[in-house]
Amino acid sequence: MNTKLKILQGAGQIGGNIVLLEGGNSRIILDFGIPLTELEGAPEQRAKDFCEKNECSLKQNPQSRLMRGASGNATNLKLNDERVKKYLPDIPDLYKNKQEKETLIFISHAHPDHFGLLRYVDKSIPIYTTKETKLLIEKGSKLLYDNLFDNLNLTEIKETIKTSDFLVDAFEVNHSVAGACAFRITDIKSKKSILYSGDLRTHGRSMTENELFRELNIAPDYMILEGTTLSREETHTDETQTPLAKTEQDIENEMTKIFSQDKMSLVCCSPLNTDRIMSVYNACRRANKTFVIDPYTAYILESFRGSNLPNYKSENIKVYCVPNTQSEKIFEDVKNKKFEHNKIAFDDIMAEPEKYVVKDNFKIAESITKRIDIDKINLVYSYWEGYLEDKNYRWHKYIKQLKHVHTSGHIAKSDLVKLVDDIKPDKIIPIHTLANEKFKEYFGDKVILLDKTSALEII
Ligand SMILES: [Zn+2]
Ligand SMILES: [Zn+2]
Repeated sequence: MNTKLKILQGAGQIGGNIVLLEGGNSRIILDFGIPLTELEGAPEQRAKDFCEKNECSLKQNPQSRLMRGASGNATNLKLNDERVKKYLPDIPDLYKNKQEKETLIFISHAHPDHFGLLRYVDKSIPIYTTKETKLLIEKGSKLLYDNLFDNLNLTEIKETIKTSDFLVDAFEVNHSVAGACAFRITDIKSKKSILYSGDLRTHGRSMTENELFRELNIAPDYMILEGTTLSREETHTDETQTPLAKTEQDIENEMTKIFSQDKMSLVCCSPLNTDRIMSVYNACRRANKTFVIDPYTAYILESFRGSNLPNYKSENIKVYCVPNTQSEKIFEDVKNKKFEHNKIAFDDIMAEPEKYVVKDNFKIAESITKRIDIDKINLVYSYWEGYLEDKNYRWHKYIKQLKHVHTSGHIAKSDLVKLVDDIKPDKIIPIHTLANEKFKEYFGDKVILLDKTSALEII
């Protein structure tokens, strides 16, 4: 039989990608994500619409309902739960320990909208990903997800992976999490190639060393391409009013200016976004400030030691040992006792607050804002601003004080056109986007719209 390509989830929505390539004797699944509720409109309204559609309670975020386990706030939903069944693709033998065909799963990066449903697949199914993504899923499982992702059959990709129908290669790309990759799948029978972008951007730190960009003569027959930003307003323009994405270097420069002021800065950013951590760290050094990180951030940086990231021992870094369960879990691990040697006490920070840039963490932000008037702190918010629309979000009440310093993890509109010009795919299949019509506008006849009801035959 000829290979069939289906977008089982993720067409016409942002996040929750699941792509199936079914050959005669084997099948490949690209990503296995939970759909995000971050659709167009205010998050609160999105969550309401989502819950209405999926008959779940608004009290708990539907995403965390599937992510968190019994000891978290949310219910540990079982495989046979009707709410779980709604999300899982209809491939019954994926959840049993015997598959009809050889089945391999490939994960592009460690964001829940790309791996979050993996906990439901049979533990024997091989899952391939990069070294960093493997580490983040495994460590995140222990620390953040109540061990829900333990015992997955995860393997680091080191070379081309072969099945009876396909060859799969991974290419490092830049995104807002370490270890993101794109995949190229070669269909052995038809000799056609399919490039799956995962989530990517070209304005991050490592863009020039990126493997994908080193191999720009890829020219795949099909490119399954993300288009997250196509439905968002461009917020940044150059002198000629041309919309463009801020680079991580722009972020570093903006932060350097803010940190140089004679007051404490509190920075709210993801420890998994190692490009951003690097920007904050460089800005601290340039502004002659000490960067105070929490044990989880120290743990992540330590896990990636060897890349040129800072670690807990680097100059200008101190670890603040936040008293909460997550940090305690980290310190249960004897190896991490070493962070103690570089720790800083809360009172030391408070004695000379203007010397520090503190990475936000629930506890420390709470304690600091109790002791120092909010107007005497630079509150730097370094996530997507859409989250701030949610009135229940803890930063919402500071919306007036926040300095928003951020750039997207997703490729900007103008760069998307350049990327397609460089890679030269014959056909483009949109994914991770609310703007299929924009794809048509930009790429015309090259675009093929697919969803779970339509299969594309690769011949
Ligand atoms: Zn995504
Ligand atoms: Zn992502």
